[in-house]
Amino acid sequence: MADIQRLQELKKELSGYNATLVAVSKTKPVEEIKQVYDAGHKIFGENYVQELSDKHEQFPEDTEWHFIGHLQTNKIKYIANFVSLIHGVDTVNLLEELNRHAARHYRILDCLLQIYIAEEETKFGLDFSQATKLMEEMSIYKNINVKGFMGMATNTDDSRQITKEFLGLHHFYIDMKETYNLSVLSMGMTSDYKIALDCGSNMVRIGSAIFGRRS
Ligand SMILES: *Cc1c(COP(=O)(O)O)cnc(C)c1O
Repeated sequence: MADIQRLQELKKELSGYNATLVAVSKTKPVEEIKQVYDAGHKIFGENYVQELSDKHEQFPEDTEWHFIGHLQTNKIKYIANFVSLIHGVDTVNLLEELNRHAARHYRILDCLLQIYIAEEETKFGLDFSQATKLMEEMSIYKNINVKGFMGMATNTDDSRQITKEFLGLHHFYIDMKETYNLSVLSMGMTSDYKIALDCGSNMVRIGSAIFGRRS
């Protein structure tokens, strides 16, 4: 069962920040996602391509599906025609392939560049100088619209560390915002979304608070 009361509380809290909620529904069954949809929330995040394309077919047209995982180029074709926002673009190669698939569907594909802000070896993403360079070259990708950035903080209880990482990305976002007409800063999940909001996030990706722990 999705926690609809928690969902409504979250939405109220987020509206005070003008922030968008992405309900992260990965691994959760369609019936539970439908409960959230029926409660009036229509933006979902998934991070497995197969699962995303299966679920998408079972929901009305007005559902927004965000891809928040690590996207492999050979899987783009399964989601290119319907995905609303891709949060994790972090290589030129992926950008080129996304552009090609978007053109094939006569679409402009909305994307976020994933920026590496954590002190962990395992996380994907670009550093600030790579991202700056990519933004400068973005006009050659006619079918891509970069709307902003996504970042994941270190998985730690140290809120000062998390704050430092989120503030760094917010600073970068503000630097680029005017020049590139950016509007989305995707930071924060169940454990750290409050910190993220206080650091300037305007899009949070929340799963377990709404759908419960994943097995
Ligand atoms: C799973 C996931 C989330 C949601 O995590 P919760 O802790 O369940 O809120 C957010 N962002 C990304 C990229 C994820 O993979």
